Amino acid sequence: MIGLDLSKLKSVNDKYGMFHAMTEKESVEGSFHFSAKDNLTSKDMETCSGSRILEGYRPAFDATAIAKMRAAGGELVGKTNMDEFGFGTFSANSGFEVPRNPFDTERACGGSSGGSACAAAVFEDHVSLGVSTGGSICCPASFCGVYGIAPTYGRVSRYGLIDYGNSLDKIGILSSKATDLRKYLGIIAGKDEKDPTSCVQPDFNPGYRKLSSVAVPKEGMEGLSKDVESAFRKSLETLESMGTEIEFVEMPSLKYAMPAYYVLATSEASTNLARYVGMRYGQQEGDLSLKFDDYFTSFRSEYFGDEAKRRILLGTFTRMVGFRDRYYAKALQVRKVVIDDYKRILATHDAVLAPTMPFTAPRFDDIANMSALDAYKADYLTIPANIAGTPHMSVPCGYGSDGMPIGMQFVADHWDEEILLSVAEDWEKVFESKKPEVTI
Ligand code: GLN
Repeated sequence: MIGLDLSKLKSVNDKYGMFHAMTEKESVEGSFHFSAKDNLTSKDMETCSGSRILEGYRPAFDATAIAKMRAAGGELVGKTNMDEFGFGTFSANSGFEVPRNPFDTERACGGSSGGSACAAAVFEDHVSLGVSTGGSICCPASFCGVYGIAPTYGRVSRYGLIDYGNSLDKIGILSSKATDLRKYLGIIAGKDEKDPTSCVQPDFNPGYRKLSSVAVPKEGMEGLSKDVESAFRKSLETLESMGTEIEFVEMPSLKYAMPAYYVLATSEASTNLARYVGMRYGQQEGDLSLKFDDYFTSFRSEYFGDEAKRRILLGTFTRMVGFRDRYYAKALQVRKVVIDDYKRILATHDAVLAPTMPFTAPRFDDIANMSALDAYKADYLTIPANIAGTPHMSVPCGYGSDGMPIGMQFVADHWDEEILLSVAEDWEKVFESKKPEVTI
């Protein structure tokens, strides 16, 4: 890790590629510095959500989460690279730069908040705002060896967030320090008149609660790499020695969460992307003599990446008359079953625990050979909590034989961030984390 020095920001970024846009200032004037995923609108920096179709878009307003960080004295130093509109698991689907893992630059940071995890791992005392739809905070936190929390859906205002899946998107925090999660989530949480899906909630002032019991779903132990499984089992022993009771349980619904998610998320995404047509935001230099649908098509064909196009096709299909009951409505039913399964288990346990990702950060050449389906499948451990809207958090818990970080993910009941924040702080005292060696 290195201290943040704005005169060296460009050189650090040349090596790690965490930022899409950066501050031009020479020194940090705020009382702390932070970065934000590039799907959060920011007044003084271009906001593209990882997509070339938004190139040149300079929002006239700050997302509420960014506005609150600034109001608390924070200085925004960069907008972080990500998969286009959040569509991905490795940030390799970015229309711009792909962030590189600070532990090994031949490997991915995870996604889709890959640039945020990278910045949190590279810079000391740095906090980054990430966004999770299906696991995009926990996955990169795990791959980059930092702490990441996605709060309960509705805890943080989505105003100014460029939507991927409106019923799934949550803004959260990534940092190398567990104590930052409490501090900064406290700043961005709260009901916001500008976002009707942000909930009326008690003041965000969680106390401390010791983790007395966790449930480990047997389904979460399937398909793990050897390194992940052994680091996870060792962590269970450590938790036991800290006085936590561990029980292996069955959560049969977890298996169905991933297919249901890709139906729900792409259905919502395909409607959200309809607004990008080369007229209102970003790219607009087109041939005005074309008929309007040809004009729109010319932009969408040119500037959307392959994954965005795939999701438009998939999501349009699952909502079509004649198919929507079979796919979209069915997926909503599965979502309810997953929520009920969490409620059942969390009635008798403080949290549900599993590894965050089934493997460590893959190499870019391996990612290039992965099919879209293989990439979707990699998310089977992070997706269930996301479709349930329950708060979840990844903490570093070991290192593989390749030297890459491994994370484990705690899931708590709706609005129970208290237990997650307490666990993170207790865990940080016993787990010896490694910091990446940062050179420029
Ligand atoms: N990897 C998942 C997807 O591609 C989740 C991404 C996210 O949370 N934005 O949809």
